[in-house]
Amino acid sequence: MHMIKLADIQGQSLSSLVCDFMICKRCGIVDRERSRIIANSQCPACHESAGIACLYFGLNISILLDLIQQSYHSATPKAEALGPQSSDVAVVLFFCALREALLNNLLAYLETGGTSTSRRNLKSKFSQLEDHIGCTWDEALREISAREGVLFDSVSNLMIEASTLRNRFMHEASGWRITRQFSTECLNNTFAVLGLFVALHNRYARPLLPIRATERASQGRIPASDAAK
Ligand SMILES: [Zn+2]
Repeated sequence: MHMIKLADIQGQSLSSLVCDFMICKRCGIVDRERSRIIANSQCPACHESAGIACLYFGLNISILLDLIQQSYHSATPKAEALGPQSSDVAVVLFFCALREALLNNLLAYLETGGTSTSRRNLKSKFSQLEDHIGCTWDEALREISAREGVLFDSVSNLMIEASTLRNRFMHEASGWRITRQFSTECLNNTFAVLGLFVALHNRYARPLLPIRATERASQGRIPASDAAK
C-alpha cells in the first residue's frame, strides 16, 4: 500500500483529512465520493437519489484520530534517548482504541443486518466478527485485498503488534518497544486502518443492510439509531 506520511502533517486536523467517509443512506455503501455532499445526487453505487450525505464514522472516531495526532506532535526535542516517551506510548494506546472502536462500529452494522450471534459477551470481538462474516480474519483480509486491489496484511499486522505492545504496557508498565519509529508507523497507518474497516463494511455488512426506498432516503427519515452509526 502506498504510504501516506500523515506524521508530516501539522496545523491541520488529521480527522478532517482522513475521516470523511460517507455512507449512502439507500444502499449502505461507504466511500469518499464527493458528489454525496450535494443533496439528492445520484449514488454511484446504486444509481438512486441518495438523500443527504451522512458521515460513516461518528464524532468519537474523529476525536480519537486527532488525539493520536496531538499526542504524536507533543514530543519534546531530544526525547528519543531517554526511553519510552509519553508522546509515543499515548499514540499506541489511542491507535489500539481506534481499532477497538472501528471493530465495534462494524459489529453494530453486522448486527443491524440481523446475523446476531449467541453468547456474544463470552467471545472476543474478533471471534464475534468471524461468526458474523462466516470466515476467519485472515480469509476476510485476503478477500477484501483482492476485491479492493489493496494489500491489507501489513496494516493488520501493525494492529496486532500495537495490541501486543499495548497489553505489555497496561499489564507490566513496560513500554520499551514503543519507539518513535513505531508510533510514526501507527500514525501513518490511521488512514489504512479506516480503509480496512470500510472495505470490511462494504463486503460483509452492506449486503445485510435493508435497501431503503428512494423517497424515504431523500427525506432523511433514517432511524436515529442507524444514522448515528
Ligand atoms: Zn447507494
